[in-house]
Amino acid sequence: MVTFEPDLAAALARLDEQGLRRHLRAAEEIGPTRLVLDGKGYLNFASNDYLGLAQHPRVRAAAKAAIDQFGVGSGASRLVTGSHRLHAELEAEIAGWKRVPRALAFSSGYATALGTIPALAGPRDLIILDKLAHACLIDGARLSGAEMRVFPHQNLDRLEALLEANARLGNGRNVLVVTESVFSMDGDRADLKALVDLKDRYGARLLVDEAHAAGVFGGAGEGLISLLGLQDRVELQMGTLSKALGVCGGYLAGSATLVDYLVNRARSFIYSTAPPPALAAAALAAIRVAEAPEGAQLRQRLWTNVDELRKAVGSWAPPEPASAIVPLKLGLEKDALAASAALRNAGIWIPAIRYPTVAKGTARLRVTVSAAHSPAMIAGLGRVLRTILPDPGRAPLEITK
Ligand SMILES: *Cc1c(COP(=O)(O)O)cnc(C)c1O
Repeated sequence: MVTFEPDLAAALARLDEQGLRRHLRAAEEIGPTRLVLDGKGYLNFASNDYLGLAQHPRVRAAAKAAIDQFGVGSGASRLVTGSHRLHAELEAEIAGWKRVPRALAFSSGYATALGTIPALAGPRDLIILDKLAHACLIDGARLSGAEMRVFPHQNLDRLEALLEANARLGNGRNVLVVTESVFSMDGDRADLKALVDLKDRYGARLLVDEAHAAGVFGGAGEGLISLLGLQDRVELQMGTLSKALGVCGGYLAGSATLVDYLVNRARSFIYSTAPPPALAAAALAAIRVAEAPEGAQLRQRLWTNVDELRKAVGSWAPPEPASAIVPLKLGLEKDALAASAALRNAGIWIPAIRYPTVAKGTARLRVTVSAAHSPAMIAGLGRVLRTILPDPGRAPLEITK
């Protein structure tokens, strides 16, 4: 037997040297505002549970009631032993929330991208992605075998140049444009109206991942596409049930024909066991909270918290309050690691986000704010950040982006 451990150990040692090695920590408690990791308690500013719904009494009760009634595991794919009525109810709720005819639930957002993109694009097609598109969107595009092109983040002139160059080829291949509506590591928002106009002009299709917008934007938390009234012009609305909704799973929303097609062609849907009905019940309850006046109140608290944090960090915050994600870009991997360690010593959990999650030299603290944070928690974070962030006026760090 060939032993490969020395190679793996050497690769890990290199990651260590570069400040890029990752470790799992034992978590005894994971709440929207508090973590207990390796026996120590921290204020949590790293979760995507933007509304605190992972702990919501109605969401918990829905999951428990469904477990008592239906058990835990599903046993097989929905195409093999039947599609549970709770999945159908969840999908109808998602479709109504997104104001499109149909939706299809997957076991995760990641699985949604991996199933959907290769179902719709193949080796003869072209996929054009925003440079900062999430890893699952890139992996889905790679898996499809389509030609891939990337435009610089939010640079629609460059996107247009790519669309134009493809049109000149005149080969009539399908073109899929892929973006997020709120970018996961930068917290900025795509210009969806301009994107939609552009892809329509070139006859391309558009997939928009609303992972960090659903639950957070819109009167019912429906996300940016529907808020902007673009639901009839975005062919593929993708999202996750695991962030603002506080549960687990992903979805693709769009036309009835699209959903029927994905049931037949999305391999991560076909060849994977159905998510537990209890997760569908929990997600259904979470969407109903997000749609209700309570959801609007939670979003109001969330925005108040975002504003307070932005005030506390001054010019370190991005110029526009675009989302619940506030990136503090430190640049060098070691600076981000040092800042994260200083926060940890002060009892605050904000990991350093580094390559390959973000580009080299753009390491950052990615602060995520939740409606569940109290004003005192936000003020406490602000006090600690002011002591550890370099004065932006006096000590410029090497920020390459
Ligand atoms: C988290 C995330 C996903 C993956 O969703 P999961 O349900 O966690 O698998 C997809 N896209 C974006 C932009 C994300 O941030």
